[in-house]
Amino acid sequence: MSESGTPGPRDPQTAAAATPAGPGASPGSADAAVLRHLKPSGRVPAPAVPEPAVVDPVFSCRNVSVFYGAKEALKGVTLDVGRRQVLAMIGPSGCGKSTFLRCLNRMNDTIAGARVSGTILLDGQDIQDPSQDAAQLRARIGMVFQKPNPFPKSIYDNVAYGPRIHGMSRSRSQLDDIVCTSLQRAGLWDEVKDRLTTPGTGLSGGQQQRLCIARTIAVQPEVILMDEPCSALDPVATARIEDLIDELRESYAIVIVTHSMQQAARVSQRTAYFHLGELIEVGETDRVFTNPRHRLTEDYITGRFG
Ligand code: ADP
Repeated sequence: MSESGTPGPRDPQTAAAATPAGPGASPGSADAAVLRHLKPSGRVPAPAVPEPAVVDPVFSCRNVSVFYGAKEALKGVTLDVGRRQVLAMIGPSGCGKSTFLRCLNRMNDTIAGARVSGTILLDGQDIQDPSQDAAQLRARIGMVFQKPNPFPKSIYDNVAYGPRIHGMSRSRSQLDDIVCTSLQRAGLWDEVKDRLTTPGTGLSGGQQQRLCIARTIAVQPEVILMDEPCSALDPVATARIEDLIDELRESYAIVIVTHSMQQAARVSQRTAYFHLGELIEVGETDRVFTNPRHRLTEDYITGRFG
C-alpha cells in the first residue's frame, strides 16, 4: 500500500477492483487473488479511495526495510508522519512496529547486526546521512518507552538533564523555567513542585511516565516517539497520559505504538496497521476503524486475527 493510497503492485485493492471474483478461480490467477482478499462477509473490499496525502510531513519514509542479520523484520515501508497530529501504529506482536519506530531516531544503529535501507527524511533531510550526528538527531526526536525509565536523579535533574547537555540555558533561572514549564506541560508540576529534589524513581508509575515525558519535551523536540507508553500503567494513569498526548499534539508530531485499539482510536488522527513486517494499511483513524480496506486490518480490528 502506498502512502497516498494509490494502489501499488502489491496492493490487493488493485486486484479487487480490476477483476470480479469468479467461482472457478485457479490458484495463482487474478480471480484467486481476489478471493484471497474477500472479507469474511464474502464482500470484496470497495476500490480504494485515495487517502488524503500528508501535507508537509515532518517525516517522509520511503521503502524502509530493516534486517536483523539475515532476517527482514521490516519490508519496504513507505509512510509519512504529519505535523501536530498523532500517528498510531497497531498490529500483532513481532510485526515490526517498534523496529519502524526505532528507525525514526536511528536507535537501530545501536543494535548489533541491524541494517536499515530506504530513505528517511526529517524535514527533508536524510537522517541516515553519515554527516548527521545521531545525538543531535535524538534531541530533535524524543522517545518515551514502555516502562518509565527516570534517571536515578532528582525530579529536577531528570528534566534539566537534556537542556544541560545541549547547552540550552544560560543561567540557573533559565533552567528553572525550562524545568517548571516542562513539568507543567507534562501535567506533573502541581504534584511535584514541593519535592523537586527528591528522586524521580520515588514517584508512582504514572507520575514517572509523565516525568519522562517532561524530560523529553524539555529539549523541545520536533517529534515524540512513544513505544507502548501506557502498557505498564493502570487505567487512571493511562487516561492521564492519553489526555496529555492529546494536548501535546498541538505542538508536536507524535508517533505511538500501541497494542490497545481503543487507545489508538482515542488518541490518534492517523492509524497504520502492520503485519509481518509490512505496512498493510494507513489512513485516517476513523476510516481505518470503521471501514478498513484490507482484510488483514479488518481481521485484527475485529479480533478475528490468528
Ligand atoms: P513489534 O514492535 O511489532 O512487536 P518488533 O519490531 O519488536 O515488533 O519485532 C519485529 C521482528 O524483529 C520480530 O520478529 C522480532 O523478533 C525481530 N527483532 C526485533 N528486535 C530484534 C533484535 N534486536 N534482534 C533480532 N531480531 C529482532
